[in-house]
Amino acid sequence: MAEAEAVAAAEPVAAEPDTLSRRAALEVHAAETSGCTRCRLAEGRTQVVYGIGDPDADLMFVGEAPGFHEDKQGYPFVGSAGKLLDRLLEGIGLTRRDVYIANVLKCRPPGNRDPQPDEIEACESHLFRQLELIQPKLVATLGNFATKLLSGKPTGITRVHGRPQEALVGGRSVTLYPIYHPAAALYTPAMLKTLEEDFSRIPALLAGSEAVVAPEEAQVIPFPASVLSPAAAPPPDEQLGLF
Ligand code: URA
Repeated sequence: MAEAEAVAAAEPVAAEPDTLSRRAALEVHAAETSGCTRCRLAEGRTQVVYGIGDPDADLMFVGEAPGFHEDKQGYPFVGSAGKLLDRLLEGIGLTRRDVYIANVLKCRPPGNRDPQPDEIEACESHLFRQLELIQPKLVATLGNFATKLLSGKPTGITRVHGRPQEALVGGRSVTLYPIYHPAAALYTPAMLKTLEEDFSRIPALLAGSEAVVAPEEAQVIPFPASVLSPAAAPPPDEQLGLF
């Protein structure tokens, strides 16, 4: 091997300048967002829960809002729903270090109530900026709030889960992949099975080897209503209204 080649082989591959500047911009944005007072949720939060993971990830998950544990620790999906998310990721050979995870709302709603429309409106530009900087190829929306916000459509998760669709997000074309929120699946075994099935298609979607259905052609397969009543009531620190 020539000397120059040997040196090149020994050196770690440097990140593209564009990647570096997007990473730096994400850090700046996270710091700016940490002081956000755009809505009433600023008053009750412990801290802003910005997001976590690989700033250059191809796959990004968008959940609903921080819960009790997320608010305390400052990271998304660290409670029981997060543990299920970790298990689902492991099932497809990934860890949370391979992906980026964020929420529609960056601050915890009191008592984990549903996000209010004015809170989503106040917060959404934070998420859009994250999407702009991370530039994921595939955005898995977890539950209703993320799905409705990023698809721009009122159709609920029960009707669209598991159906990837092309969407323009922040001027970029991405594949949106609506799936059930892990917190909903924690208490409903049939929903967990559906979530696992929907998850199992992620590698093919990332590889671009699975066709993305245009929304107007998609077959609508509503989730059976019989499995929508949770077998056990979720504890108060889990979000409700997830499907
Ligand atoms: N549920 C969410 O939607 N986000 C979190 O960060 C935790 C639970």
